[in-house]
Amino acid sequence: HAKVAGRSQTSFFNPKMTRDLVRRREIEDELRSAIMRDELSIYFQPIIHLDTGKIHTFEALVRWFHPEKGELRPDEFIPVAEETGVIVTLGNWITAQAAKACAQWPEHVSVAVNLSPMQIRAPGAALGIINALREANLDPHRLELEVTESLFVDDNHATAVFMEELSSRGVRFALDDFGTGYSSLGYINSFPFSKIKVDRSFVSGPNVGKKTDAIIRAVAKLGSQLDMDIVAEGIETIDQVQSVREAGCTLGQGYYFSRAVPDYLAAMLLTQESDDDKPARAQA
Ligand code: C2E
Ligand code: MG
Ligand code: MG
Ligand code: MG
Repeated sequence: HAKVAGRSQTSFFNPKMTRDLVRRREIEDELRSAIMRDELSIYFQPIIHLDTGKIHTFEALVRWFHPEKGELRPDEFIPVAEETGVIVTLGNWITAQAAKACAQWPEHVSVAVNLSPMQIRAPGAALGIINALREANLDPHRLELEVTESLFVDDNHATAVFMEELSSRGVRFALDDFGTGYSSLGYINSFPFSKIKVDRSFVSGPNVGKKTDAIIRAVAKLGSQLDMDIVAEGIETIDQVQSVREAGCTLGQGYYFSRAVPDYLAAMLLTQESDDDKPARAQA
């Protein structure tokens, strides 16, 4: 008897797998009500002009402060939201919050929001974004939507309609995590992108060197010829700032400048910046 029980315990589900499944199931169950319970919050990470050091955009990054599990990262719950379809409601809420925050900032500062493929393919997707802009009274030019190449694996028609509808109103699009997928130049040609974000694996970490430098240089050159901004993601050191600048990137993002911060701190960074711009008082 003992032998049989022992074997069945170790066969398919080991304790770690069971724990992971339970956690995933809990996340799935609790995500729907997390918005109503006010557990989700949007953080903002600045994207910096590498020439001037000024803030160009804030990227909205969602956080879940779970009462028992603590801070959950989007990498853990966004995939669950996608699988369950909750991403549509969640995504509309995120866009609305981000647009509201941006409406409080100086006009030269934009907000970037990440969109999942499923959000884009949902019926009325473009309308959800247009409504969020209208409710926040935000100029569409100040919203940028970040998508990854995973969007283009199928149903490009729906994607094209969505992107055309919004870009005709002034909303801009960025191709996120460039270099990690197919990195197809066809997407850049066929869809209205105004920005390419070079994935952080080319900027910092163990694989960075001469080769990644050359790749960034090539992408930056492409960007300047096509009149697109090139953002280097994941900048963690001053050396990396220098090397991506020399490679031709116009914008940078990463822990070297700032992590994602709550809205009141984002507003403080902007206030500080505008105070710095004021002419210094004449010395007595
Ligand atoms: P992403 O859009 O590529 O966002 C950048 C991620 O890199 C963020 O992680 C950011 O905190 C992190 N990061 C920024 N600078 C550095 C750096 O210097 N070093 C390192 N090691 N990391 C850096 P986060 O916030 O955990 O988000 C992870 C991913 O989750 C995002 O990747 C995005 O794909 C997704 N995500 C986040 N918020 C949303 C959202 O509101 N909606 C959707 N659909 N996806 C989201
Ligand atoms: Mg992004
Ligand atoms: Mg990215
Ligand atoms: Mg990334």
